[in-house]
Amino acid sequence: MLIAAIELGLRQRTPSMCQIPTYLTQVATGLEKGLSIGVDLGGTNLRVCSVELHGDSTSDILHTQVRIPPELMVAKASHDLFSFIARQIQDFLVKFHLAFIQDAKSDAHDQYFALGFTFSFPVYQSAINSGVLLNWTKGFDIPDTINQDVCQLLQREIDLLELPVRVTALVNDAAGTIISRAYGLPLSRTRPTIGAIFGTGTNGVYLESLSEITKTIDGDYDRSTGKMFMSTEWGSFDNKLSVLPVTPYDTELNEHSVNPGNQMFEKRVSGMFLGELLRLAVLQVYYDDGLGLFRDDTGKSNTDDFNRGAPLHTRWKVDSSILSVAEADNSELLPALREKIHVSFGVPRDSVSVRDAQVVKIIAHAIGTRAARLAGMAVGSVIVQSQLLDETHHVAAGLEATRETIVDVAVDGSVVEHYPGFEQYMRESLRALEQIGVEKESRISIGHAKDGSSVGAAIIALLAAEQV
Ligand code: ADP
Repeated sequence: MLIAAIELGLRQRTPSMCQIPTYLTQVATGLEKGLSIGVDLGGTNLRVCSVELHGDSTSDILHTQVRIPPELMVAKASHDLFSFIARQIQDFLVKFHLAFIQDAKSDAHDQYFALGFTFSFPVYQSAINSGVLLNWTKGFDIPDTINQDVCQLLQREIDLLELPVRVTALVNDAAGTIISRAYGLPLSRTRPTIGAIFGTGTNGVYLESLSEITKTIDGDYDRSTGKMFMSTEWGSFDNKLSVLPVTPYDTELNEHSVNPGNQMFEKRVSGMFLGELLRLAVLQVYYDDGLGLFRDDTGKSNTDDFNRGAPLHTRWKVDSSILSVAEADNSELLPALREKIHVSFGVPRDSVSVRDAQVVKIIAHAIGTRAARLAGMAVGSVIVQSQLLDETHHVAAGLEATRETIVDVAVDGSVVEHYPGFEQYMRESLRALEQIGVEKESRISIGHAKDGSSVGAAIIALLAAEQV
């Protein structure tokens, strides 16, 4: 189903899988040189970095990170959010590149930083440096940003601060991750052609042949490579199909989300939702007296005196990091998980028994491994669709294909980074896919590109500055 949805998205604009063109048509070689800026607006954090590429796969990276203030995610006007981003860029430049700003002000030459803006929301791009927001996801909701060009919104705020910065690229986070990993790999290694994010949200991007993309791509782009990275927007898979198995917790989470019926795949896979799924499932067990969860020393249920404002009783209050702690703690008495239950759920310390922690661990494992297996299924579907491990496809395309052909997948995001064994569970799915199986799965390399989306954005900004 997912493979069919990916394929359909190449032919027409679909409500479910968008297959958005990224206007990025090449992979970094590792030979690039220059200094540029990357800004990554994820769902949780805003990252600003500068990257100096030395032209030999090495680079110097400086970066800062702040949490996005929750009130800006649902601000009244775009200006509130975008002026905040511009001010973070200003602070970053003053801290690390003051001389450059001063030189740019006094120099008659047009000196500026190329900036790549990773904006991890569904955007319809019409050029490498422009794209309009289709809809907000991940808890953001600022109505007047919809249908606006987000690069222009950011450039306007940068100009108001008189910073020597030009937004030369609008970057998809998964594409940024690919380019970041590609630049840093030894020159002899196969470059990544697929990128996947498992952070607040989830998405996958892959390199597709222009000949396979039969829907119209608006605007100008470099056709010389014959390829373009396409953004699958797989987070919205199953919005209409409803083929994925559903638990009562999925249903309840969806009904209370800001976007019921949307991002249905994402709601089972990404960091924004895993903590809430766990909370809902544990809450059900808590109210089920038969299991007697979270009793105090006298065996009394905490139902009466348990603070109603505790995160266990409050929607969206439980962070997904508890799932990683649950998976990682394999000791007999589960001390790390018991402490985390106290902190994350707000259950009094003396009411968290070893048995309670065992129950939470079982539920968290079910939710975490389901997410990782679905993640593997999504990556596998892209590999199948793009025929990257298919010898007959390579021969037909006049390419050399051997049994050693490797597909490289660049991944980033806190969930894949911190959830123990996430990659191994993904690989179980890859092996289970009929079209991949054990032999081909062993030819898939998966590599983490830390802060890939911001570093990649800076590199793409440099590539794009030559085109703009
Ligand atoms: P962004 O999506 O903003 O780029 P991240 O990749 O750091 O940022 O993802 C943040 C998401 O990851 C949040 O939803 C958070 O709940 C979740 N998260 C953070 N730490 C962990 C962890 N240790 N294990 C699992 N999920 C985590």
